[in-house]
Amino acid sequence: MSTHLITADAYFDGITHHAGGPYRIRVNDGQIEEVTKGALDVEASADHAHVIHSAFVLPGLVEGHCHVFLDGGELDFQTRKAYLKAPFDEMSSRARLSVAQNVDSGITLIRDAGDIHGVNTRMKEEIDADPHSVVDMLSPGVAIRKIGRYGSFMAREITDLDGIVQTIREITPNASQLKVLLTGIIDFEKGTMKGGPQFTLEEIRVIVETARESGLLTYAHCSGEDGLRLAVEAGIDSIEHGFFMTREILQVMAEKGIAWVPTYSPVDFQLQRPELAGWNAATCDRLRAILENHNMHVALAYGMGVSVVTGSDAGSYGAVHGQALIDELFYLHHAGGSVADVLASATSLPRRLWGCPSADIVAGNQANLLLLEGSPFEDLNHVRRPLGIFRRTWHPLAEKAG
Ligand SMILES: [Zn+2]
Repeated sequence: MSTHLITADAYFDGITHHAGGPYRIRVNDGQIEEVTKGALDVEASADHAHVIHSAFVLPGLVEGHCHVFLDGGELDFQTRKAYLKAPFDEMSSRARLSVAQNVDSGITLIRDAGDIHGVNTRMKEEIDADPHSVVDMLSPGVAIRKIGRYGSFMAREITDLDGIVQTIREITPNASQLKVLLTGIIDFEKGTMKGGPQFTLEEIRVIVETARESGLLTYAHCSGEDGLRLAVEAGIDSIEHGFFMTREILQVMAEKGIAWVPTYSPVDFQLQRPELAGWNAATCDRLRAILENHNMHVALAYGMGVSVVTGSDAGSYGAVHGQALIDELFYLHHAGGSVADVLASATSLPRRLWGCPSADIVAGNQANLLLLEGSPFEDLNHVRRPLGIFRRTWHPLAEKAG
């Protein structure tokens, strides 16, 4: 039996901000036994509990969309291209680093978003087999796409309706959820989508239905009004990226309980470093307009009760694992999400939507805690300086980072 007492001036339980502490979170054998208000007394400190002091505690963060086999910090286009032909073991080493980068940022649940090689499946197996792992992982294995369309590095090709059912059945054993590529990518120079939706409404309906029969939620790479309309009509469970969002589509998402993972990082990076891709002033203006539209609709989404979930698309060009997810909190807050909204998007909400064990800070739950040296309600920058993670036992992070 090991007992830990975690002290905090304030905490966010996953839904509610509890200010005006001090508070004590008592953890026994990895489980939260009680959360009480009041300073540490002599009696408590004499019962052989390990005491950990912090300023602020919240549930471990969730990275809702990343590709662990890719290094978003690699900015050389040729190196990135060559890497896609690297041996499986080299990719696995990269993925282990990506997972470690997530943990170092205070992330305790990662949802991968697809890789054609199955490196994500390998990582999930390693994590699941490690009883001391601080982080959990959901993985789709390989995603699906229409033949000849965008997504070769992460998705298998499907030609027709029969192929949909067959392929989903084949990839289901390695899939926590089904990742679907519904559209192409953004043409930044034109400020529009490259090509139309990959699948017809009928095909998307079959995808959703087949996934549900296999017990899988669906999440779709999808941007542009045409694709978004089809996705929400067919009842996809989560829209990934969702650029060129509209109020009308958000309305349907609110009604049907469809989540949105806005993944700002890769698009914002294009604007931060336009010289890397050679963007001129006109393209930068288009990027700014795309991001402004995103901000407006993220604010609307929070107001309308749409489930906004944090995900950075880390592994994509310029989106570094861990850091990029922290950046997403700032993008969502800048767009108009309150600190409590944004922290819920990054903790309790995705776990609830995906059927994962709750990490909310209440008695009875397994401790899955992130400790900070200051309150994000006073300054959101405190999420950039995690002290450590408590899962089963204490895992300090600050010394490593320093
Ligand atoms: Zn992605």
